[in-house]
Amino acid sequence: MPYISTNKKAPAATLQSAVIKGLAPDGGLYMPAHIPKLPETFYARLPELSLSEIAVEVARNVLANEVPHNILKPLVEEAINFETPLKEVEKDCFSLELFHGPTMAFKDVGARFMSRLLAYFTAGQRQPIKVIVATSGDTGSAVAAGFHQVPGIEVYILYPKGKVSPLQQKQLTTWGDNIRALEVDGTFDDCQYLVKQALADTALNENHLLTSANSINIARLIPQSFYYFYAFGQLQRLGKPIVFSVPSGNFGNLTGGLLAAAMGLPVHQFIAATNANSVVPEFLETGNYQPRASVQTISNAMDVGNPSNYARMLYLFNEDVSRIKKLVSGYAFTDEETKKAIHDVYQNHDYLLDPHGAVAYCGAKKYTLQAGHELVSAFLETAHPGKFKEVMESTLQQKIHLPERLEAFINKAESITSLSTEYEALRAILSKV
Ligand SMILES: *Cc1c(COP(=O)(O)O)cnc(C)c1O
Repeated sequence: MPYISTNKKAPAATLQSAVIKGLAPDGGLYMPAHIPKLPETFYARLPELSLSEIAVEVARNVLANEVPHNILKPLVEEAINFETPLKEVEKDCFSLELFHGPTMAFKDVGARFMSRLLAYFTAGQRQPIKVIVATSGDTGSAVAAGFHQVPGIEVYILYPKGKVSPLQQKQLTTWGDNIRALEVDGTFDDCQYLVKQALADTALNENHLLTSANSINIARLIPQSFYYFYAFGQLQRLGKPIVFSVPSGNFGNLTGGLLAAAMGLPVHQFIAATNANSVVPEFLETGNYQPRASVQTISNAMDVGNPSNYARMLYLFNEDVSRIKKLVSGYAFTDEETKKAIHDVYQNHDYLLDPHGAVAYCGAKKYTLQAGHELVSAFLETAHPGKFKEVMESTLQQKIHLPERLEAFINKAESITSLSTEYEALRAILSKV
C-alpha cells in the first residue's frame, strides 16, 4: 500500500521509505493512502482477544503487503509484550493503563514497535542510522530503551532544559553507549523544530542516514491504535456507548484512536483533553487553528504549542472540520483542576492519577456530565505516577512509592551535551562520523 504525505506535494512512498524518512520531503507526515476496514469476524471476536492477538491482526490489516506475516507476527508480539489493563475508577469510568512497559509511559508502545520495524527495514545498511528524537519527557526514554545497544543505530535525544521531571531526565541521560542526550536551552517546540531542520537538511542527508523517531513517524502511530480495540472489546459487555478521553500534546495518541475508528471501530466519541496548551480544543470550538509557543505545565509531556499530528487528524477527515467536530470534543484544563482531580480521585477512590491521566480523567468527567445520556468512558492513563514524584507528593502531601523499574534510574550517572536553539550546533554533532 502506498503511503502519502499529508501535504500532498511529495511522491507516494513505500512503508519502508516512509519509516526511514520519517518526514515526507514536502514537510508533510506520511499516512496510508487507504485504510482498510477490519472484517466483521474480527469485531465479533474482539471481546475474547488479548492485546497482542489484536495487535497482530490490526498490524496485518495495514502492513500486510509491506512486511511478510512470518516477520510481522513475531515483531508485533515482541513489541507489545506488556498488558494495558482497564481499572474501573468510578462507575462506568475506567482508567486504561498504558504505562506497564519498560519506561512506564505509553510511548513504549510506539517506540518498541518502531524500533523493531526500523531495524527490519535497515538491516544490512553499511552506514549507521542516526535516529533523532525530540522529547517532552517520555518519548526519548522509550526510544532509547528500544534502541539501546542495537548495532548500527545511533540515537540523539533532544529535550528542553529544565522542563522534564528529574526522573524523566535520568531516563534520558543515563543510557550511554549508542544513546546521546542533548539538552536544548529552549522549549519542546524548539527541539521539534531542530529535528525538522536536520531532516530537511539536504546536504547533511546526502552523507548521513538520518531518521526521526518522533510521533511524526508513521511506525509510531500505527501501534497506538491497538489498545483502543482492546479496551473497546473489554467494555462492550456493558452495552453502552463508549467514549475515550485522551490526554494530548502532539496528538499522536488521539490520532491512533482515530485510525482505529477509520478501521471500523464504532467509538461513540473521542475527547481531546489538554492542559493550558489548548490549540486543538480551541480549533474544535472556533474552526481556527492557531499554533503558538507552548507554556509549561505539570503535565509536561503535553506542553506542545504546534501539535504535529494535527495534519493527520485533518487528513483522516478529508479536511472537513465539521466531521472532526462530530467525533472529537476538546477540553482544556488548568494545573489547578488537574491537581484537584489527582487529590480527589485518590481520596475518594484510592486511585493514583498521574498529571497526564488526570487531565484525561477531567475530560471524561466533563463530557459525561454534558452528554445527558448513559455512556462508558475510558481515559488513557499514559504514565506511571511515580515519574512525577515531586508534583504527586506536593499535591497529595504524602510520599509515593516508586516501582523498582523507575528506582533503578535514580543513582545512575548522567551524561549530557548542552545545545542552544541554533541549528548549527546540532548539525555539527550529527555531521561527525
Ligand atoms: C507524550 C505523552 C502524552 C501526549 O501524547 P501525544 O501523542 O503527544 O498527544 C501524554 N501523556 C504522557 C505521559 C506522554 O508521555
